[in-house]
Amino acid sequence: MMPGITEDLPIKKTSEASINLVLKKIAERAAVTEHHPNGPAEEFKWLHECGALSIVLPGHPLDFNLPKTPQLLRLLKAVGKANLSVGRIFEGHVNTLYLIHLYAEAEQRERWYREVEEKGHLFGVWNTQAADGISLRADASGFRINGSKTFCSGAEIVNRALISGDIDRDGEKGWQLLIVNMEDLPQERIDRKSWKPLGMKASGSYKVDFSDYLISEKDLVARPGTYLTQPYFNAGAIRFAAVHLGGAEAIAQHTLSYLRELKRTEDPFQQMRIYNIMSELTTGQLWLNRAGKYYDKWVAAGSHDQALIAFANMTRTVIEEICLKIMDESNRCVGARGLMEPFELERLHRDLTFYLRQPAPDATRLKAAEFFIQHDFTFDDDI
Ligand SMILES: Cc1cc2nc3c(=O)[nH]c(=O)nc-3n(C[C@H](O)[C@H](O)[C@H](O)COP(=O)(O)OP(=O)(O)OC[C@H]3O[C@@H](n4cnc5c(N)ncnc54)[C@H](O)[C@@H]3O)c2cc1C
Repeated sequence: MMPGITEDLPIKKTSEASINLVLKKIAERAAVTEHHPNGPAEEFKWLHECGALSIVLPGHPLDFNLPKTPQLLRLLKAVGKANLSVGRIFEGHVNTLYLIHLYAEAEQRERWYREVEEKGHLFGVWNTQAADGISLRADASGFRINGSKTFCSGAEIVNRALISGDIDRDGEKGWQLLIVNMEDLPQERIDRKSWKPLGMKASGSYKVDFSDYLISEKDLVARPGTYLTQPYFNAGAIRFAAVHLGGAEAIAQHTLSYLRELKRTEDPFQQMRIYNIMSELTTGQLWLNRAGKYYDKWVAAGSHDQALIAFANMTRTVIEEICLKIMDESNRCVGARGLMEPFELERLHRDLTFYLRQPAPDATRLKAAEFFIQHDFTFDDDI
């Protein structure tokens, strides 16, 4: 059994076993997938077959209507541990389904949920853009898109992309969410020269030009500005933090195996570093678990939005620091030899180093500080 998702995860025995099996296969293939021309397409076929793509939908084990955030975070961590690029795309899929769960009309939800369950459609959320970002212009039959998105993870394999852009909708202006059918977008709109990163190559996070795509009302999600609704907008950071920690867990595991293989575990300096790695990893797991519990409790109560955002911001930044420390200790443990192919650590370090760069890391810390300055609040154990 893969550690990480089994504990407390109430998925049916068969599903649990098959998710574990799929994650094992994904981990074993990660080095090949990094250079595969189809990216992780196979991996998402397997994730559909074992039920992971629909796991958060109504009636499924981690149904968004149930308080299952700690379990969802454990699943995200396990996918990230298997392959960080797959984890990134899977997290985008889960995020999109969550936005649909929160904001879409009943007809839209049914339509898109059915596509996931029956066809294994993969969803992605692409909000990041450069100066040539998205705007929507009213047209006789809907809205015409102009502009591009950057960092579109899974651009070549995502079927439905939730993107965002400026709209003027009957006088109501703001940041509009909309779903694009990627099959209807010409393939050459994906700029394949735009993705030459240090790591996370298999996430295929290309720049995509959506200009001239015609979107109808039925594919617009919610009213302009809804995307920025709190606490959901900021508190969602705990989901990518979970994937990050999965990468750190993989590094910890491979570091230990490497030291065992070379019979270097008797050395007290190595033992001290192993201690540092494992205590950091455990701290991260505790933060994540607590973040998941607060998320379920406070979203249901609607009472602690600012505290939830502060805790999520701290979880994200503490886990960033934990990942950096684990990588540093792992580097010293294995040395140059261990950071060369065919050792997995070569790719794992590149992937995690790159993936840790998420938006506004400094502003996130300042925002958490602001919360404590403005509120007389401590996070007690009453959970
Ligand atoms: C692997 C990967 C996959 C991704 N996939 C997606 C995706 O599917 N969808 C999506 O929407 N996005 C995606 N993103 C983008 C992600 O959400 C962030 O937008 C992106 O990582 C921003 O990182 P950056 O380091 O370039 O940010 P920057 O904002 O450039 O930050 C870099 C540094 O500059 C500082 N800084 C920022 N602004 C200023 C300023 N005005 N003055 C001085 N300093 C400043 C920051 O605090 C930070 O220290 C992905 C990113 C990665 C790495």
